[in-house]
Amino acid sequence: MLIDGHGRRVNYLRISLTERCNFRCRYCMPEKPFSWVPRENLLSFEDLFKFVRVAIDHGIEKIRLTGGEPTLRADLDKFIKMISDYKPDIDLAMTTNGYLLKEIAGDLRRAGLRRLNISLDSLDPSTAALIAGRDVLSNVLAGIEAALREGFKVKINMVPLKGINDHEIVDILEWSRERGIQVRFIEYMENVHAQSSLQGLHGREILERIRERYRVEKIGRQGSSPAFLYRLAEDGYTFGLIDPHKHDFCESCNRIRLTAEGYLIPCLYFDEAMSIKEAVEAGDIDGAVEILRQVLANKPKENRWSEERSELSNRAFYETGG
Ligand code: SAM
Ligand code: SF4
Repeated sequence: MLIDGHGRRVNYLRISLTERCNFRCRYCMPEKPFSWVPRENLLSFEDLFKFVRVAIDHGIEKIRLTGGEPTLRADLDKFIKMISDYKPDIDLAMTTNGYLLKEIAGDLRRAGLRRLNISLDSLDPSTAALIAGRDVLSNVLAGIEAALREGFKVKINMVPLKGINDHEIVDILEWSRERGIQVRFIEYMENVHAQSSLQGLHGREILERIRERYRVEKIGRQGSSPAFLYRLAEDGYTFGLIDPHKHDFCESCNRIRLTAEGYLIPCLYFDEAMSIKEAVEAGDIDGAVEILRQVLANKPKENRWSEERSELSNRAFYETGG
């Protein structure tokens, strides 16, 4: 079992498979200048799997693949199959922008992936293009359809931004409700890589928009999920709100993150990270476990990011996987 320095049980590993992305969401990545980490610095799927196996042996029960855009990695289905063959009952999920799903959803499902969180910030093609820096909407919608057809459990992620897509909060909620999909609204988290003029909405403002149309009841947090759940009184439809400006979910945090280059990160808002790359490439599994234990011992009590902090987070979401 993996226990951190504050007595919390850690059983959730988020793996960023690449920092590269086919979108340039203005809340996540600069358009340019931009230089990617060279491909040779990435951990191969074979080396990543060496670590995944040992993490599972030590108590990891849930893995989420993310990025950057994880669907850009060739042979993604083979990596998923390695994990699900090793532990068929693992809770294996992926967060994606959905752009390439139309082509690969079936392969991913057959390889053992069950759950997908797909980002959908607008239902209007020009607003979606304004946010993603590309004309993306028709592919994303086709990707969501393909995922539902293949039997994935799908959730939608939306980041509301003032004056850009905040007028679509209720539209996206209703669109998701019609399809039986849970939507989670994520507060925009300021960071140095995002466009500086952006302004997000606080969780309470997001709720106000929904309350203008619906009666909303609180449900609460389920397990160690960062999403606080609410339901519409009318029909019981459940949606989530992720509001890291309050860090009350840190108390039950059960996760660690691994970047595509092999850095283990104890907390999204924490700059200290340790690399497992050398250890796994040399086949030194004991060394990798020791690094895992040190990172857990250093896991902070709560994120260092709150309304009171004036400096912007340096952490790139596209590296750490959001
Ligand atoms: N490319 C995939 C995607 O967009 O779904 C996976 C990686 S992305 C970094 C994971 C999630 O982080 C997405 O839902 C995205 O909307 C969210 N995200 C990225 N930057 C963010 C920010 N500054 N504030 C809040 N959420 C952010
Ligand atoms: Fe790419 Fe996802 Fe970041 Fe958008 S949020 S730029 S899709 S990694």
